[in-house]
Amino acid sequence: MIAVDLFRDRAVALFGLGGSGLATAEALAAGGAHLRVWDDAEAARAEAARRGLEVVPLGDVTWREVEALVLAPGVPLTHPAPHWTVSLAHAAHVPVIGDVELFARQRRADCPTAPFVAITGTNGKSTTTALIDHLLRAAGHDSRMGGNIGRAVLSLEPFEPSRTYVVECSSFQIDLAPSLEPTVGILTNLSEDHLDRHGTMANYAAIKERLVEAATTAVIGVDDPLSAEIADRIEAESHVVVRISASRELDDGVFARGTAIIEAKAGEERTIADLAGIGSLRGRHNAQNACAAVAAVRALGLGPAEIAAGLATFPGLAHRMEQVGRKGRVLFVNDSKATNADSTAQALASFERIWWIAGGKPKSGGISSLEGFFDRVAKAYLIGAATEEFAATLDGRVPFERAGTIDRALELAAADAAADGAAEPVVLLSPACASYDQFKNFEVRGDHFRTLVRAIPGIEGVGP
Ligand code: ADP
Repeated sequence: MIAVDLFRDRAVALFGLGGSGLATAEALAAGGAHLRVWDDAEAARAEAARRGLEVVPLGDVTWREVEALVLAPGVPLTHPAPHWTVSLAHAAHVPVIGDVELFARQRRADCPTAPFVAITGTNGKSTTTALIDHLLRAAGHDSRMGGNIGRAVLSLEPFEPSRTYVVECSSFQIDLAPSLEPTVGILTNLSEDHLDRHGTMANYAAIKERLVEAATTAVIGVDDPLSAEIADRIEAESHVVVRISASRELDDGVFARGTAIIEAKAGEERTIADLAGIGSLRGRHNAQNACAAVAAVRALGLGPAEIAAGLATFPGLAHRMEQVGRKGRVLFVNDSKATNADSTAQALASFERIWWIAGGKPKSGGISSLEGFFDRVAKAYLIGAATEEFAATLDGRVPFERAGTIDRALELAAADAAADGAAEPVVLLSPACASYDQFKNFEVRGDHFRTLVRAIPGIEGVGP
């Protein structure tokens, strides 16, 4: 744990006692803060009390004595409306911050030279974060990964000058972290998302911009116009910017040419690695993530050979085009994280011959935006509440079957794919839907699919 001692003997309020909220509370308590915590859920309050935290209704505290309100990242700061604790804090001029802010301030106090890589973007954050951590470890570095990717940042091991922290930051966390100053800040890309929480696209982009603007080296994906503008703007302010692209060649920066990852400096090119044959990094979107990761670890001093070796052993992340098994020529892929059509587009673009399991709780727009990929789909197996809507979109264009459940869909798809003469038929679970109609979340859905695949007689595991 990283004990936060910046508020020793001073009053701090914390709202939101989920996993990261509890870890943050314990870090503040360990550092001697006079901490009062609260959550709307009874069970969360009981767990906090069991851990010895002081659970107090935050409506009752004397706010003018409070030094900071620490908010869990899921709690609304501005949109759709400020949380009631935020209103109380604002009325008393109390700053509202989050765990990443505490991490950044404590690092500055304890060990400002400990390298800190912060990653944000609309898509690819977790993959890029995990890949950077993997590349650093593979090269023998002491790397710790946390933040939005799952492990609360303050539950990581204490600061050491040679210990690198790789931290995924959601826009909510950046919004609560005014003094974020990473060694390397990464913005993978920007597209419309989470506008319910940030109001406008301009506001959302401005929050993400803050992370790269404050970085010693800013790594920015320039494949979308908003991010490209951010790169130009902060470079004009004399920041060090490394551009990355998976769709065009750059004179300066890191880009993908086919599967080759190339570093360019003033037009001089050097091939760092080739992603061909690395199943965990298939697809254009992963080429973008790989370019970002390569640029980051280059800025931290890794050499091309160790980067190439590290990329080749990246295991990938669960539920994101995760290769869960192979039987003969047939590859089984779990892309349960694809809860909307944009994510599914990345998977459909990554394979040639697809036996596609889709459906669940549909999002607005459905799958009509995926039309351009329909020629890759040998057949679709529809499940869940989206069945009739998806059937209507596919009708007359792609053969499909109403399978009802993942279990039945897999049975049908595995049999059809086994009889397919293609070089690598792929049975792909990429639902383009939320899971809530049949599963608790996308993890449970993907775990179920993986378990079913592994139970197929004759199935073999797949390496990176
Ligand atoms: P995040 O952490 O930003 O949600 P992940 O790395 O978990 O991103 O990837 C989630 C899904 O988003 C992937 O399954 C894939 O469909 C899509 N994705 C990943 N990287 C990118 C990218 N660079 N550009 C566009 N989509 C991507």
